[in-house]
Amino acid sequence: MGVVLVALGGTISVSGGVRGERLTGAEITAAVPGLEELAPVDVLDAHAVPSGSLTFGQILDTVAVASRAVAEGADGVVVTQGTDTLEETAFLVDLVWPHEEPIVLTGAMRQPAMAGADGPANVLAAVRVATAREARGAGALVVLNDEVHAARWVRKTHSTSPATFASPNAGLLGHVVEGRVRMLLTPPPREPLPAGLDRARLEATRVALHVVTLDDDGARLDGLETTYAGLVVAGFGVGHVPGVLAPRLGALAERIPVVLTSRTGAGSVLRHTYHAPGSESDLLQRGLIDAGFLDPYKARVLLRVLLAAGNGPRAVADAFALRG
Ligand code: GLU
Repeated sequence: MGVVLVALGGTISVSGGVRGERLTGAEITAAVPGLEELAPVDVLDAHAVPSGSLTFGQILDTVAVASRAVAEGADGVVVTQGTDTLEETAFLVDLVWPHEEPIVLTGAMRQPAMAGADGPANVLAAVRVATAREARGAGALVVLNDEVHAARWVRKTHSTSPATFASPNAGLLGHVVEGRVRMLLTPPPREPLPAGLDRARLEATRVALHVVTLDDDGARLDGLETTYAGLVVAGFGVGHVPGVLAPRLGALAERIPVVLTSRTGAGSVLRHTYHAPGSESDLLQRGLIDAGFLDPYKARVLLRVLLAAGNGPRAVADAFALRG
């Protein structure tokens, strides 16, 4: 039945003009050699923005469009967007995607007019994965550079390299080799969260991210609970903060969910190895929630979705225990 491709903007669409003109989805796909013979691609232009301007609501709308497409018989869905926020949008999609059919997010690191533009190869690989039997049931996937990553583990690790996407905790899931999709691993299936979030509630559900730094007393966290429904803390190493910050975070955790992650970029936070003030065990005792292997950005996505759906502190902690 073919693939539906939803275009959201990003570098893959930047035509290079000084007025910020962008290619349409049809122009992006027209530049992909061999695409026509591979599968019928039905293109939808949803947004034409840098990915830093995308919203949770727009991504959930895209999921709704994609769900309709597979309900109507599409083999899979491809989403093209900017790479800057792709690790967050892909994770959001993965949280709520209920279908066996693949939904594949891709983009480009080089603009279409640049030497070695990677957009066409990425779209071709993404369509191959979206139509591959081997990729079914793997949730949302990220395909760039002929590599297949699980949305739940992928990170953007370099500001300019076409090989920017990596999955430091898990490794990649597969490769596209000579046009063939070779899946090496499949992530474990997980119950999808409800995608139909009330939009007004979602917009009102703000979740803050605080990256802890040397000699940080956290003064800017004062009164945070009046504007924010939740907080993610990106702590040092295994989930540590300066000792002086611990009581502040503990007091906040009595008012709103406060989730503990590591700012290091890989590995999980610990639970019971260190015991100094500001250590992981101190913070967890003060009521912070441990995010396991989830990085600060993904933890923020999960916390916002959970809170917008009306989950209380207990359900939030359970969800992080399950997905972290
Ligand atoms: N890399 C940027 C992004 O993630 C591209 C910005 C643009 O499209 O203008 O969207």
